[in-house]
Amino acid sequence: MSLEARIQHVKERIEAACQRAGRAKEDVRVIAVTKYVSLEATESVLDHGLVHIGENRWQNAEHKWNALGNRGVWHFIGHLQTNKVKDVIGKFEYIHSLDRMSLAEELEKKAALLDLRQKVFVQVNVSGEESKYGLSPEQLPSFIKKISNFPHIDIVGLMTMAPFEGNPEETRPVFKGLRELRDEINAQGLTREPLKHLSMGMSNDFEVAIEEGATWVRLGSILVGKEEESR
Ligand SMILES: *Cc1c(COP(=O)(O)O)cnc(C)c1O
Repeated sequence: MSLEARIQHVKERIEAACQRAGRAKEDVRVIAVTKYVSLEATESVLDHGLVHIGENRWQNAEHKWNALGNRGVWHFIGHLQTNKVKDVIGKFEYIHSLDRMSLAEELEKKAALLDLRQKVFVQVNVSGEESKYGLSPEQLPSFIKKISNFPHIDIVGLMTMAPFEGNPEETRPVFKGLRELRDEINAQGLTREPLKHLSMGMSNDFEVAIEEGATWVRLGSILVGKEEESR
C-alpha cells in the first residue's frame, strides 16, 4: 500500500471508531510514528500533510530533527533518560513519557533555563506489566499534585501503552482505566487546568482506544510503515 492509501485507510477506521463511540473525529489527533523509517520517508510523511511526528529515541531522531525539525510538531514518545533531557528539550513540543520525579525535576530545570513550558503526558502503567514503564495508578495522584506546581511543566494528559493482544478487544480495560484515572484526577482538582488528553492506542489497538476516549493515537507500522528495524 502507498503512504497515501495507508493515510486514507487509517482515516476511515478512525472515523468509524468515532462514530461508534459518538465522538467528533476532530477530537482524535494522529501522531505519525516515524521511528521505523528513514529521513526520506519521514519527509514524505510531512509532504503528505501529516503534522505530528513521533520518535522514541533521540539517537535515531537526531538527524531527522536536524533536517526537518522546523516542519511539523515533534512528539517524544519513548522512555526518556534523564541525561537526554538536554537533547530533546525545546525540540519536542510534547513529551509523552514522564514517569518519575527525577525526570520531572530535570525537565523543570532545563525548561527554566530555556524559558519555556514543556508540555508533558504522565505515563501510567495501567496494565501492571513488569516490562512497561510508567507510574502505578496508586502513585499517580500525589505525583500529579506535586508536578502541577512546577512552573515550567504543563501536564496536558495521561499516556499508556497496552499489552499487545491478538484480540485488540482485550486491551479495552487498560484504556478505560486510563480514562477513569484522568476523570478522577480532574474530579479531585489536582491540576491547574483539568487534564484533557489521553495518549493511547497504537497500530494494533487504536480503534478500541478511540472508543474509550483517546485524544491522541500514536501510529507507526499501520500508517507510516516499517522499513528499518528499530531496536
Ligand atoms: C513504536 C511506538 C508506537 C507505534 O507503534 P506501532 O505499533 O507501530 O503503531 C506508539 N507508541 C510508542 C510509545 C511506541 O514506542
